Amino acid sequence: MDSAALLKAMKKIVDPDRILHNELERRLYSYDSSFLSVRGRYCPDIVVLPRSTAEVSGIMAFACKNGIPVTPRGAGSGETCGCVPARGGIVMDLSGWDTVEEVDVPNMQALVRPGVVHSRLNEHLARFGLFFPPDPGSTRMCTLGGMVANNSSGMRAVKYGTTEQYILGLEVVLPDGEVIVTGGQNCRSLKNASGINLTKIFVGSEGTLGVITLIRLRVWPRPRARGIAMACFDRLEQAPEAVLDVYRAGILPSGIEILDQSAIAAVNLYRPETNLPPVEAILLFEVDGNPASVEWEGREIEEIMKKNGAAVEWSTDPQRMAALWQGRSVVAAAAARLRPDGTRVFAGEDVCVPLGRVAEALRKIKDLGRQYDIVVVAYGHIGDGNIHTALVIDPDNPDEVARLDRLVDEIHRLAIDLGGTTTGEHGVGMVRSAYSPLEHGNALETMRRIKEALDPRGVMNPGKIYHPW
Ligand SMILES: Cc1cc2nc3c(=O)[nH]c(=O)nc-3n(C[C@H](O)[C@H](O)[C@H](O)COP(=O)(O)OP(=O)(O)OC[C@H]3O[C@@H](n4cnc5c(N)ncnc54)[C@H](O)[C@@H]3O)c2cc1C
Repeated sequence: MDSAALLKAMKKIVDPDRILHNELERRLYSYDSSFLSVRGRYCPDIVVLPRSTAEVSGIMAFACKNGIPVTPRGAGSGETCGCVPARGGIVMDLSGWDTVEEVDVPNMQALVRPGVVHSRLNEHLARFGLFFPPDPGSTRMCTLGGMVANNSSGMRAVKYGTTEQYILGLEVVLPDGEVIVTGGQNCRSLKNASGINLTKIFVGSEGTLGVITLIRLRVWPRPRARGIAMACFDRLEQAPEAVLDVYRAGILPSGIEILDQSAIAAVNLYRPETNLPPVEAILLFEVDGNPASVEWEGREIEEIMKKNGAAVEWSTDPQRMAALWQGRSVVAAAAARLRPDGTRVFAGEDVCVPLGRVAEALRKIKDLGRQYDIVVVAYGHIGDGNIHTALVIDPDNPDEVARLDRLVDEIHRLAIDLGGTTTGEHGVGMVRSAYSPLEHGNALETMRRIKEALDPRGVMNPGKIYHPW
């Protein structure tokens, strides 16, 4: 369909003020945070900003009838080209549709539109003494729609789990424009064993099965106290063993983070006042709950760390906790300091391996970095084996980019070989779809069949997950 006809059709569905069609505006929608999106040209033909289920449904029905690809988009903070229009067509920007429709306190749930930003939801819930536990590092950017579509999580997943555990039901516009409600039409219960769990099928489907227009999510009481322990190890291998000892003691911290030698060096260059000891690994434990249990668990962790040969500091003082946490919170930004003329790129950044193989994975990733002569900064959520690797390169140097591609491929294959996955929380999108057959075997065919059943014309976010890019 030519662009004038597409524009005319969209104007019949959406207010013209909420349609973007000049080249500059469209180009702004050809990126997310992934390195791949910077390297390609994935420009939409038109961008629409719907504000109601009826508008989304109208757009989908039109697109389906005319075979026009539609790519839903939240804040564009994804790392996988998920919201980037691989085949042009319509980008549906849902970030402005950001109302918290209801906080249903007696039923411990909330209803939100897809564009609500994660940190805003938690600010809103705090007034009721509640919170939504999944906590991505992109909290001030990412939308709830994007989080549901990517099944996002973060540092506290070790205790609280991922987004999928909190989604009770969804309103979804299917690729042909039909609107469904999953989790029970009028349901407000916290459990529901009735029928196939369609909610789970949409969570993590990365905008390939439908557009999420309303999210019914579970909320939890806010913990009243928090404490942080920092443990420093001379040898990397001591760290996973110490984490296991904490679990063996019956303690489930709300966060367990690791910084390896490179991350420690990067933080010290970026914020010298942080002054982290130059050891092989630092572990940060966060515990939360009531004041007495936090104090008890913190002291236990302190003892366990000492027995594992670490120098350790435990604190519940807010200022000291902030200082202890500082190293972890700045590491992503600090990574590029290890190579002042380089840029940190998001590629191969999210592998997840079994806990027992974290040290091996970290060592091998560092060896690969040396082999390809690329700076690798490693950190992440060791409590669930999710390792983040910040790769620092000169993106204008084709030789380095070629080496980066080989390094990323090896990191992804290493994760699968170790019994893990190419992505613990960021998703597949375009950047990891080549590994889907290796990760899923013939289960991938079942995923494709679900996709084809819901989207026989293939209009919904094509070019992602199911087929190698
Ligand atoms: C600095 C930084 C830190 C990050 N830290 C974390 C982290 O700790 N944990 C983590 O999990 N991720 C993290 N991310 C990745 C990213 O923020 C998450 O994947 C996030 O959930 C994406 O949300 P978004 O609104 O930006 O979605 P987008 O990037 O816009 O879209 C992501 C996917 O969701 C789909 N989508 C968006 N809205 C809808 C909708 N309404 N209906 C259907 N599909 C939809 C898109 O098509 C796309 O496939 C980080 C990113 C950055 C830049």
